[in-house]
Amino acid sequence: AAEQGGNRFQFYADEMNSTALQRLMLESRLRRALEQGEFVVYYQPIVSVADGQILGVEALLRWFHPEIGMVSPSEFIPLAEETGLIVPIGNWVLGVSCRQVRRWQEQFDRPNLRLSVNLSARQFELDDLPATIANVLRETNLAPELLELELTESVVMGDAEEAEQRMEDLTAIGVRLAIDDFGTGYLSLGYLRRFPIQALKIDRSFTTEIERDHGSLTIVKAIIGLGENLGMRIVAEGVESQAQLSLLQALRCTEVQGYYLCRPLPAEEIMNALQATSLP
Ligand code: C2E
Ligand code: CA
Ligand code: CA
Ligand code: CA
Repeated sequence: AAEQGGNRFQFYADEMNSTALQRLMLESRLRRALEQGEFVVYYQPIVSVADGQILGVEALLRWFHPEIGMVSPSEFIPLAEETGLIVPIGNWVLGVSCRQVRRWQEQFDRPNLRLSVNLSARQFELDDLPATIANVLRETNLAPELLELELTESVVMGDAEEAEQRMEDLTAIGVRLAIDDFGTGYLSLGYLRRFPIQALKIDRSFTTEIERDHGSLTIVKAIIGLGENLGMRIVAEGVESQAQLSLLQALRCTEVQGYYLCRPLPAEEIMNALQATSLP
């Protein structure tokens, strides 16, 4: 039995080593991806329910691996967060997308076009984040109030006092804050009222079920009501059908995002979408 135990330990140890090795390889691969320009920013429009206008775009990271092809952010962002690589990667996304949106504002005479960028916990925690963002805005000439940083509930859940201070430092430079995937975390309503947040993004899991599941419909209604009362904009994520869009419209949701309106696209392809002004 002792020997068997030893073997079993050996087995686990090998397995652990190979996992550690794989992670190490992926980490160095991610580092190289940034250096070699394998990352690309895609953009997905955020559309006004009232008139179908594109109000802004969300920057979504893509990794084009020379052998594997496109790798989804859900496959590498968790490791990038753990290793801290998300900080240089996130700064790169910020610079590229701010510059791009500023260019579109001029090109399409849409000076108020907004940009939404996802911020990870590792970035949010950094003391120099407000200065970094202020620098990017200055360099790219994007108006601060047109940059909205998307934070998930978990990002702001740590030390509430500290989170509030950080959010105030960010809003002091003029940028806007949104809570991403709203409804899936544990952010208390008290904090929601206290924090300087301008928008709530209803998580896709609720939008998807809105026609089929009464509970999801109730939650979406409640989030929209909450947003109206707290003076926040509401964006429904993951809209995939006309039926969902009509329902959200009836519930007075003001902004929508999803495959039904437009998929995330590379910069070159989004120009056509930017010129269109009506809902499908
Ligand atoms: P997220 O911020 O919640 O972004 C929305 C995700 O839903 C995107 O996945 C988008 O492509 C997808 N989506 C949009 N509309 C629909 C729809 O109608 N149906 C369905 N099924 N999906 C839809 P994506 O691009 O794979 O990104 C996944 C997550 O990776 C993002 O979730 C975000 O948390 C993270 N991420 C992406 N880019 C960045 C980045 O630059 N920095 C950080 N920190 N995280 C990022
Ligand atoms: Ca997001
Ligand atoms: Ca989301
Ligand atoms: Ca998400």
